[in-house]
Amino acid sequence: MLLGAIADDLTGATDLALTLSRGGMRTIQTIGVPRGDLDLSDVDAVVVALKSRTNPAAEAVALSLEALGFLQAAGARQFLFKYCSTFDSSPAGNIGPVIEALMEALETNLTIICPAFPANGRTIYKGHLYVGDQLLSDSPMRNHPLTPMTDSSLIRLMAGQSSLKVGLVPHESVARGAKAVADAFVQARAGGIQALVVDAISDLDLKVIGEAAADHVLVTGGSGIALGLPENFRRAGLLQPASHATTFAAPAGRSMILAGSCSEATRGQIRTAIAAGVPALKLDPMAIADGRFRVDDAMSWALAQAAQVPLLYSSAEPEEVKAAQTALGRERAGSLIEHFLAETALRLRAAGVSRLIVAGGETSGAVVGALAPEALLIGPEIDPGVPWTLTLGETDPMALALKSGNFGAPDFFLKAWDLLQ
Ligand code: ADP
Repeated sequence: MLLGAIADDLTGATDLALTLSRGGMRTIQTIGVPRGDLDLSDVDAVVVALKSRTNPAAEAVALSLEALGFLQAAGARQFLFKYCSTFDSSPAGNIGPVIEALMEALETNLTIICPAFPANGRTIYKGHLYVGDQLLSDSPMRNHPLTPMTDSSLIRLMAGQSSLKVGLVPHESVARGAKAVADAFVQARAGGIQALVVDAISDLDLKVIGEAAADHVLVTGGSGIALGLPENFRRAGLLQPASHATTFAAPAGRSMILAGSCSEATRGQIRTAIAAGVPALKLDPMAIADGRFRVDDAMSWALAQAAQVPLLYSSAEPEEVKAAQTALGRERAGSLIEHFLAETALRLRAAGVSRLIVAGGETSGAVVGALAPEALLIGPEIDPGVPWTLTLGETDPMALALKSGNFGAPDFFLKAWDLLQ
């Protein structure tokens, strides 16, 4: 185990795990701090997905330290704390307090702060975080329901959230390359700086910063800060040359698609699949609500589809969704379908389905919550942002593809299977 990462939410963890996997590291993502014995013998990087972004700061610190303990025991050589690329936090934390606690536990006196994610328009210049063309404080993040961001200065934000002495590595240094950045780190350390915001406006900058931070025991930032890290381990002879797996050894068994996303991309993928002859059954929220259609009925239908890959979906056009929400209430309609699909996934696993695509972010969260794998091994990417994963740590392993609603090409449900052996 080379790199141990702690992410403050689930989708951010997947994003980071994919970045490391693309860099050629064999990566697994755990759901919370694993309890049982996970076999990490072939693993280069572990990303522990916490749900600590908006917890009270003391709780986030405790969870993060627990994750750190697990990663230290697993033998990680370097640690990464991953937060959101819009630095989602409140004046009380949690980014500052968690970084401070991790630094103390790791006995280090310097770390970097770099949430930049240029591919998604998040850049840092003169220590200010930008979202697209806007300062963070002018962006829609200023109205976020849980973590409104009204200051774009990462230096002020970090100084406000921690007792650390905060400094800046300006873009002028980053543009001169890894040696210049490493020199800036040495200078900062000599001047008593403990947390260094580093400007980054491109992926190349992030690679330079990653290279300069090769000997830092703790690195912090968005998923982009991981771009340069795999190469450090390769340079040190600890990691094989990047080899991108194009297929995935999935457990033998039946396949199934569950869709609870009503996003446009998912609806298009459903139309494409049906046009190609995929057997499909549309769920009616009203029939589920009044007990006319039960998980048993879904199971009988799915298991009757013999050799084909059936698609069970609740996905509907906006006006149908509105009608269901008016009749049932927005939250009840959502959770009713999420529970139905999660229960169906559990029953499908018990019935021998071992290859499953789930469409929808919340839907995937509900299904993963029900299947409760201890960890997911990241496999090849089906489309940008959506890898096949293999569940680890329980008796019946499954290949799972968890697709955020708007991700994936129209033929996603058809082509995903080609990557499985
Ligand atoms: P996405 O990633 O596309 O946003 P999510 O799974 O996160 O998809 O969210 C979709 C939400 O809509 C879920 O809570 C799901 O249960 C709910 N939903 C799905 N189908 C319907 C429907 N026909 N009527 C009302 N709500 C629905």
